[in-house]
Amino acid sequence: MTAPDRTGPALWSAQAHMPSVLGRQLTITRGEGNYVFTSDGQRLFDGTAGLWHANIGHGRAEMAEVAAEQMRTLETYHVFGRYLNDRAVELAERVRDLSPVDDAKVILNSGGSDSIDVALKLARRYWQLRGRHDKTVVLSRDLSYHGLHAFGTSVAGLDFNREGYGTDALVPETARIDTADIERVRQRVAEIGPDRIAAIIAEPIQGTGGVIPPAPGYLEGLQRIADEHDILFIADEVITGFGRTGTWFASERYGIRPDIITMAKGISSGYSAVGGIIVAPEVWEPFYTDDAPIYRHGTTYSGHATSAALALKNLEIIEREGLLDRVRSLETVLADELAGIAADPRVAATRVAGFLGGIELGPAHSAERITDAMVDEGWIARPLRGNVVQISPPFTTTDAEVRGIVAAVRAGLDATS
Ligand code: PLP
Repeated sequence: MTAPDRTGPALWSAQAHMPSVLGRQLTITRGEGNYVFTSDGQRLFDGTAGLWHANIGHGRAEMAEVAAEQMRTLETYHVFGRYLNDRAVELAERVRDLSPVDDAKVILNSGGSDSIDVALKLARRYWQLRGRHDKTVVLSRDLSYHGLHAFGTSVAGLDFNREGYGTDALVPETARIDTADIERVRQRVAEIGPDRIAAIIAEPIQGTGGVIPPAPGYLEGLQRIADEHDILFIADEVITGFGRTGTWFASERYGIRPDIITMAKGISSGYSAVGGIIVAPEVWEPFYTDDAPIYRHGTTYSGHATSAALALKNLEIIEREGLLDRVRSLETVLADELAGIAADPRVAATRVAGFLGGIELGPAHSAERITDAMVDEGWIARPLRGNVVQISPPFTTTDAEVRGIVAAVRAGLDATS
């Protein structure tokens, strides 16, 4: 064992095996459209839109102007108690109007993991308020990812993210359900007892678990189980929200009616740290009556004014540039390209839903090595659990760039086979 180097960068990377990344880190210093540039001047196609967030592309001057103007007027003011700021109010109204939930209320915060904490605390608090004190258990799917704060770490179906944090989940009373078979979900609900279950949380399309679209009828089945047993249905739309599937929310595409939707990423396309939840009336109303308790949640930057101004402009751009239509068209191009590569014997499976694709490689090949080879050639893709290469570029991507990145996967396979 060699002693750790004390002279390296101060920044401790996220989700990285530090000895493996030191010395080969890529520092991004500039972004323009669908491309980012490293400190060495290499131009890279952002084939994953960063962490599925840079949906309108990088470096838009219009966004910089909005931020500067808002900061000159009011950088932010908190939304605790009787205080509000006008941009947060406006963003909440905009999200309410876009959301598939009628008469929703919106809580804003700083990102996806925040949203999971807010949603799951609210689900438990809601049932306490309704006098259903035993309803505390949160169900989540195998292979699910719900961020890395304590609640999200606890409910995730990716066990490696819980390693070393104690014998149980960080937050107790969570349980996993099958990711595809609705009959097995029913059995699990019966075993636990529906009277103990507060909520089911599900990504409409599982992202980090390997880009896994829902099995036919699965989400509708979860919706039925939730309806039949008085269980709150929470759609984690942190990836899918704001257009990734060609509708504002994937809940619309799959015909589900969540009680709570979690969101982040695409709400601002990464121009600021914004997340939040959309709450249906049956959940928020008990907190709005004369004798209601306070929902004890909030952070300094809940409803941050500059972040909200940027999110508003991002949503305007998505609408103005017709990017939802564009996503629907890009889905077709990506599906065609993935159908082509699926015939390659080195590829085990391909999956696509919205502008979100996964290429699962056969056991003799490594998604990690292939994506490393791809970046050397100017194409960013990301290895996911299950030996999958993730492709989810910005909505502003051209058809030629979609063809280019799938060709780059093929070249990566050739280079590493
Ligand atoms: N939920 C889902 C489905 C996600 O994919 C992510 C992040 O990738 C999160 C929650 C957490 O979001 P954040 O990284 O912004 O905290």
